[in-house]
Amino acid sequence: PPVDIFDYIVFGATGDLTMRKLLPALYYRYRDGQIPDEARIIGTARSPLSRADFQGRAEKALHNFVKPADLDPDTARRFLDLVHYVSLNGAEADSTWPALKSLLAEAPADRIRVYYLATAPGLYGQICENLSNQGLVTEQSRVVLEKPIGTDLQSANAINDGVGRHFPENHIFRIDHYLGKETVQNLIALRFANPVFERLWSSDAIEYVQITAAETVGVEGRGPYYDKSGALRDMIQNHLLQVLCLVAMDPPGSLEADSLRNEKLKVLHALRPITPDDVATYTVRGQYTCGKEGDKTLAGYLEDLGEDATSSTETFVAIRAEVHSWRWGAVPFYLRSGKRMAEKCSEIVIQFKAAPWSIFATKPPANRLVIRIQPDEGVTLSVSTKDPTPTDSLALRQADIDIAFEKAFGTRYPDSYERLLLDVVRGDPVLFIRRDEVEAAWRWADPILQGWAEDKVKLEPYPAGSWGPEAARALLARSGHQWHEDMA
Ligand code: NAP
Repeated sequence: PPVDIFDYIVFGATGDLTMRKLLPALYYRYRDGQIPDEARIIGTARSPLSRADFQGRAEKALHNFVKPADLDPDTARRFLDLVHYVSLNGAEADSTWPALKSLLAEAPADRIRVYYLATAPGLYGQICENLSNQGLVTEQSRVVLEKPIGTDLQSANAINDGVGRHFPENHIFRIDHYLGKETVQNLIALRFANPVFERLWSSDAIEYVQITAAETVGVEGRGPYYDKSGALRDMIQNHLLQVLCLVAMDPPGSLEADSLRNEKLKVLHALRPITPDDVATYTVRGQYTCGKEGDKTLAGYLEDLGEDATSSTETFVAIRAEVHSWRWGAVPFYLRSGKRMAEKCSEIVIQFKAAPWSIFATKPPANRLVIRIQPDEGVTLSVSTKDPTPTDSLALRQADIDIAFEKAFGTRYPDSYERLLLDVVRGDPVLFIRRDEVEAAWRWADPILQGWAEDKVKLEPYPAGSWGPEAARALLARSGHQWHEDMA
């Protein structure tokens, strides 16, 4: 069903995120009849553009980022009619705000307003203060914060305090697009609608868990931005910890937002702290050097940054995390993310314990459940079956029980922003991050970053196009474990 009429006000509307993700996602929801024709999408940025200029850019974004088969010219034209633009400097108090104020005043005062902050996070507090001083924060106003929420606990608190002075917590939507991914939400269905899995979901049956987000791309044109961040801040502190929470949490009492978020928070609080002195034992950090992809030579990170660049920023990280709880005991949760890796893949691997005894000539390997987040979303359970070849004994052969969702359901898998953008209009924060989750995640990540800053673990080089440094293999080998790509 369509959502209520809204005004979506995007700060940073000329930027990459708006063009690549937000406008295409809103187009798809409009095409599917979920956005009413009276809704408005109001882009703002400092660039002095007319409404027609901005509509032109939006049209180009649809052509670039919506599948051609999904782009109906008439629907696109009607969608572009919803699009407005106001030139505005979010950091300045007065002179540029009247235009936005009067555009918003054209709609009834009780219309839902979504202020989507897609600028540098350093501006979030300032923009909220200006919105408030201009009298633009109404009862029906919500604010969406893009990542990163800070670079450590202290800076995250400064952002949250700045925004929290003007919006109540239940009107603040901190986006983590991983939670909008279908397979990540599917974890909730898989675990809590299928007792067959939940009954096995603990240290009794599970040997270890791997959560990987591997990219084949390097830093592309975003080197200077990435260099201030690194893989731990960019991927682990937010996306991978959120996935870990959904894998490790206890069943929530309901699907109500705080019920679910309370359970995730308990997991974050139960994470074994990794102190600066522990980083050499529990973490691996790496940086890609030049490598090969087929015949193509891939540049190293420093070359990608530019001539004479030096940097000790990690483009790869592997961590052995543990959730210290009755359910998990000391089951390792291996988290790994990197750029310029051998394959693009985000997945969760649940490695079950092997059978305690074998009656077969060869010991059957342990079962493994692989949940593929992207690409090719799906779930695979590996099982041992009887080898059909007639022999004098009952021999085993490995086979997969495999569901590829797109094929199984014959439906397009929406981009994560499509779900999340309209959840904000609906006022449903279940797939957004509460402030205490952000704080707990930084509290865990900060000492690791401190240990790295004190050089307590070496920055390991790895060739572009590989699965990361050898030390990442050794991190698992110590416990007799293996990364998925090394498993038979
Ligand atoms: P970007 O391409 O650099 O765009 C920044 C936007 O902010 C531009 O529209 C810029 O336009 C505007 N801006 C800068 N200063 C402003 C000011 N004082 N007042 C009003 N507007 C101002 O950045 P982006 O890649 O779109 O990212 C935006 C945010 O999303 C960042 O927080 C980023 O970390 C986050 N994010 C991005 C991605 C992604 O895929 N791109 C993914 C996840 C999160 P003018 O110069 O015209 O003002």
